[in-house]
Amino acid sequence: MNAPAKRLTIALAGNPNSGKTTIFNNLTGTRQKVGNWPGVTVEKKEGVIQRDGYELKIVDLPGTYSLTPFSIEEIVARDFVLEAHPDVVIDIIDASNLDRSLYLATQVRELDCKVLFALNMADVARSRGIKIDAQKLSELLEVPVVFTVGNKHEGIDVLIAEAIALSERGAAATPSRKVKYSKDIEAAIGALRDFMAARSDLALPYEPRWTAIKLLEDDKIVTARVLEKTGAFGAEILAETARLRSHLMDRFDDDPEILMTDERYGFIAGIIKEVVTTSTRQRVDISRNIDLVLTNRFFGFPIFFFFIWAMFQLTFTLGAYPMEWLDAGVGWIAQGFSALLPDGLLKDLVLDGVIAGVGSIIVFLPNILILFFFIALFEDTGYMARAAFLMDRIMHLIGLHGKSFIPMLMGFGCNVPAIMAARALESEKDRKLTILITPFMSCSAKLPVYIILAGAFFGPRAGTVIFAIYLSGILVSIVTGRLMRSTLLRGADAPFVMELPPYRVPMLKSLMIHMWDRSKIFLRKMGGIILAGAVIIWFLTAFPRHIDYTTDYTAAAEQVGAAFNERMLAAAPEARAALEAERRTALDKIETAREAERTEKSYIGRIGRFLEPVFAPIGISWRGGVALLTGFVAKEIVISTLGVLHAVDSADEGDALQRALHRTGMTPLSALSMMVFVLLYLPCLATIAAIRRETGSLRWTFFSIAYSTSLAWVAAFGVWQGGRLLGFS
Ligand code: GDP
Ligand code: MG
Repeated sequence: MNAPAKRLTIALAGNPNSGKTTIFNNLTGTRQKVGNWPGVTVEKKEGVIQRDGYELKIVDLPGTYSLTPFSIEEIVARDFVLEAHPDVVIDIIDASNLDRSLYLATQVRELDCKVLFALNMADVARSRGIKIDAQKLSELLEVPVVFTVGNKHEGIDVLIAEAIALSERGAAATPSRKVKYSKDIEAAIGALRDFMAARSDLALPYEPRWTAIKLLEDDKIVTARVLEKTGAFGAEILAETARLRSHLMDRFDDDPEILMTDERYGFIAGIIKEVVTTSTRQRVDISRNIDLVLTNRFFGFPIFFFFIWAMFQLTFTLGAYPMEWLDAGVGWIAQGFSALLPDGLLKDLVLDGVIAGVGSIIVFLPNILILFFFIALFEDTGYMARAAFLMDRIMHLIGLHGKSFIPMLMGFGCNVPAIMAARALESEKDRKLTILITPFMSCSAKLPVYIILAGAFFGPRAGTVIFAIYLSGILVSIVTGRLMRSTLLRGADAPFVMELPPYRVPMLKSLMIHMWDRSKIFLRKMGGIILAGAVIIWFLTAFPRHIDYTTDYTAAAEQVGAAFNERMLAAAPEARAALEAERRTALDKIETAREAERTEKSYIGRIGRFLEPVFAPIGISWRGGVALLTGFVAKEIVISTLGVLHAVDSADEGDALQRALHRTGMTPLSALSMMVFVLLYLPCLATIAAIRRETGSLRWTFFSIAYSTSLAWVAAFGVWQGGRLLGFS
């Protein structure tokens, strides 16, 4: 018979990017529960596993650089350790960045809990020639230390075994040798502790020395909880604290919290000297040198814009080749089905609905892969953080900080994860504002629309036009931010330090995985919502079956045919080829006219006609209007709808749609107006669902929809009418 498992709770603390989630995933695999911490939108992950007769509950705490209660993450992490009393706290330390990680580590160690250090990224540290004397570190801090390489599962089993062993040890296992502050501060800490201890009947909520330190640091949360517990005596504690604080301020002319922070860094610097030997500081120096250029006040921005421009240019030009092959492939498939299936509705559905609809979008897979590849490249090299750093100054103009720029940059890929990434922001208003402006970052689903329109009407300048469209999206978001900051979402941004991780040479495998993870979403959409959309649109175009034509096209065609036959008989043999070509053109013209009248009188044509007054003032035809309407489901559908409405056959040449657009009277100016509309108007269904979920507000969601769509109309109106005033067409 099995004894009931002994239960332990193990919390993982650590800086962002220290590998916490990697180790957590490694441990818990699929046995994860993801939710939010109570009352805040910070993600909480936990999982229960069995090890050595124990049932271990592993909790992934939010990543933080310290435990000073400035951000939600820091408060959540500290509260969990203080209030839920996990049996062991494992602090995941980035061994290649020991000095930065130790600040949190020393703070965790000061809490009243059993602590274990995981020196993760041991491989990176090694490759940079950083040697850490773990034995010494462990002795100095009285904390067991284990080396790990999270992404290779090295040292993880030892880590867990150590955690279990630590939990079995007595209370003596909590580190006793704390940070020693300078004489005056230690005196104040001691005085306050003794002052509270004098009332031995009082049960302080936390360990006395720690409580004294936090009171002296004017930690609002700890102060409030101490007051709750100490009743009438609380006021005396407050008075004594104030006296000691002002004494220290007199002496040092600085806030005690700043003094203590400085001394903690001094303590850390001392530890580093003792335990770290660096054979080369080369890598860090390289990073610093690269940063001298890439984040330079003058060159930084041009270089940043060059990178983004190059990204779109390459997405467009490199993507064109595989696009042609895919296009040819779709053509073959269409021809195959065309030969296989008997004429009739089913054939129309397969060819004009499924293959034309899905086929017209699948050809953009290369473009999307390339775009996501670049985004992954920026992330993995560390350039993304520099971009956020550069943008910090601009973001401050909106009243947001650079941190908001990361969701916005991700928005270029897909708005759904981007809106979720806004969770990293501390303040509710910052989050709402970021969520409102992120959809103006043109997502990859809109790219096919730009590629078709810009390709058709702007020739060799297409890449530049697309770049300008993206840039306009950024501008609109800035203006929106400014506007909202002074109206609905008044407030200031919270101060914070931008971390600049060292540059890393990206691993191809990880780039591929990141690129693929995101592209999968695109493919999944193809099979689902886009397929369904294409079929519905085909149905609306193909029905009603019976149409009252204004002209008898069949008779007209016969007439033309007969007339040519006569001329053919009379013509000299060498003129017959030219005559034959002429006949074909004439017949095509009649067929096109018939097709145009048919779509116009189909259900979708009627919807389009009904909506015409809305789109006419912005230079968009009823066909364009219908396409935009269907784009609500998913932006990719805009192109397939245009294809169906222009009766473009999937077996046609690659640029058939573009030629059809020219034919139906679209001009460079109206194409531009349409691109602007697509850039700004209401986000797709999935994004709306994400906005609803993340803001938790239906009103805010509707506001976002109404705001973006009216803005799109006004901007397109400006482009079309303004452009015409200036004499463009
Ligand atoms: P978190 O922010 O602390 O949750 O960090 P993540 O778990 O998301 O890890 C950040 C990145 O570091 C990921 O790309 C991981 O694959 C990578 N990583 C994690 N542990 C290690 C490690 O020990 N060595 C190396 N080279 N990379 C690691
Ligand atoms: Mg994480």
